[in-house]
Amino acid sequence: MHGDGLTIAVYPGSFDPITLGHLDIIERGSRLFSQVIVAVLANPSKTPLFSVAQRVRQIEQATAHLPNVEVDSFDGLTVAYARQRQARVILRGLRVLSDFEYELQMAHTNRSLAPEIETVFLTTTTEYSFLSSSVVKEIARFGGSIDHLVPPSLVAEIKQCFQPHLSAT
Ligand code: ADP
Repeated sequence: MHGDGLTIAVYPGSFDPITLGHLDIIERGSRLFSQVIVAVLANPSKTPLFSVAQRVRQIEQATAHLPNVEVDSFDGLTVAYARQRQARVILRGLRVLSDFEYELQMAHTNRSLAPEIETVFLTTTTEYSFLSSSVVKEIARFGGSIDHLVPPSLVAEIKQCFQPHLSAT
């Protein structure tokens, strides 16, 4: 298939919660592709901090400034969802070497299932290379500042989860 300048990319993940590292990938992806669909995976094997509906809303707020970004949720195989949305690209972020083995395995698996869909990796901006949703939750649990790690619209909501006696500001 030839490039037609209208490539839709699906960016799948847990986003529990979305971090500035994720947002960086979304912003850069939105400059490369005609549309980026951020797809929240409803993964029954994980116990999330936020429900899928909450995460979709949080990502919508954080990406409101990006007109070609849509937020959705899915379950099942990522390639099946990508096909359904007529996406030719699965977008993923690479932080450190330890991400690589898992991501490579996923990319090969997905190509064996759907050869017409390409996995495209963007390497993280250096300042976010240590950042993950788990790191954010760990810091918030112990009352540390997460202001520099997550979109501003989300700071109070996350703090509230761990320090419910504090009023959300
Ligand atoms: P998953 O459970 O599918 O790994 P995540 O929400 O943890 O979902 O991550 C989704 C994608 O975003 C993955 O490709 C992951 O490598 C990437 N990612 C996570 N954190 C960052 C970051 N700080 N910088 C760049 N990419 C990131």
